[in-house]
Amino acid sequence: MKGAGFYLAAFAPILACMTAPLIDPFARAISYLRVSVTDRCDFRCAYCMTEHMTFLPKAELLSLEELERLCSAFIRMGVQKLRITGGEPLVRKGIMTFFEAMGRQVGAGLQELTVTTNGSQLRKYAADLAACGVKRINVSLDTLDDAKFADITRWGRLPQVLDGIAAAQEAGLRVKINAVALKGFNESELFTLVDWCAREGHDLTFIEVMPMGDMGEAQRVDQYWPLSDLRARLAERFTLVELDERTGGPARYLRLVETGQKIGLITPLTHNFCESCNRVRLTCTGELYMCLGQEDMADLRAPLRANASDAGLEAAIRSAITRKPKGHDFDYSRAKVAGQVSRHMSHTGG
Ligand code: SAM
Ligand code: SF4
Repeated sequence: MKGAGFYLAAFAPILACMTAPLIDPFARAISYLRVSVTDRCDFRCAYCMTEHMTFLPKAELLSLEELERLCSAFIRMGVQKLRITGGEPLVRKGIMTFFEAMGRQVGAGLQELTVTTNGSQLRKYAADLAACGVKRINVSLDTLDDAKFADITRWGRLPQVLDGIAAAQEAGLRVKINAVALKGFNESELFTLVDWCAREGHDLTFIEVMPMGDMGEAQRVDQYWPLSDLRARLAERFTLVELDERTGGPARYLRLVETGQKIGLITPLTHNFCESCNRVRLTCTGELYMCLGQEDMADLRAPLRANASDAGLEAAIRSAITRKPKGHDFDYSRAKVAGQVSRHMSHTGG
């Protein structure tokens, strides 16, 4: 018969890995981390960046090893889903070593590893992503018209992205298309996008344009196409069934009865679903934003670099979560922008 000391010693490594889950002041468990691995991008989408963006000096970025250590701490503390984003995550040099490291944690604490990409580098990386355990990806695509695509992304070319999406399918990745709903831009393509996704077997989600980054108030209000209106237009052609599915984010899902398609609507403006928010966002410089739509953030780079042990880092993460606010304050009502945040979407990661 072995004594209690033996069992404590034997299980110590397991107990050390089990830290209390992250619960915020509104009793929401934090199980989802989005990580922006770079603020740089090979496109300059008009709603996301200015054409002549100033990017962070490379010296300010966390190394991929540091990002790996940070993500591992979150996974030990209960994060089950990791989405890698940016900027364009697939333009960061050496990024596949980071995916490989995170991929090793899938099934060992981490349940899902995903990526949000503009699709430009997918021909190069889709098979590698699949080999790292990525099963589903989000590709941002607002239009299927070559000229309009070049116009909205400024630097992007549609054929390259369509080829990237094809490569993702060949690699066995499930693709969800994310389209930002833009008044006067892709309104006329609503059914073109829906039909194309039905034919290609992609899920499709529309996103309301958010007031992130300084683009000029008039431009934002002009761009805003409420998804309540988009939904009404869908209802003119399809029978819509509301689905119960919840992801802890602001997306709500509809089924189009006639095609069986699932359509997501991300409506941070017309509805605020913050009460079930399960996510936080980490930037490539180690800032943790507890809410996409608020300015408050916690610096994790200093505690990360202060000590080789993770105790201080974990304490800093816990303390940050106690500051997670109830929700954002975005509002376009009365034809003006309210609740705007100054940083660009590419900084925090969409
Ligand atoms: N470069 C990658 C991409 O485009 O998918 C990942 C980063 S991008 C910032 C993530 C998502 O944010 C994209 O789907 C993009 O359309 C969306 N986005 C960027 N700026 C936005 C804004 N102001 N309002 C709503 N969505 C925005
Ligand atoms: Fe780049 Fe994505 Fe922003 Fe477009 S939305 S500029 S692809 S980060």
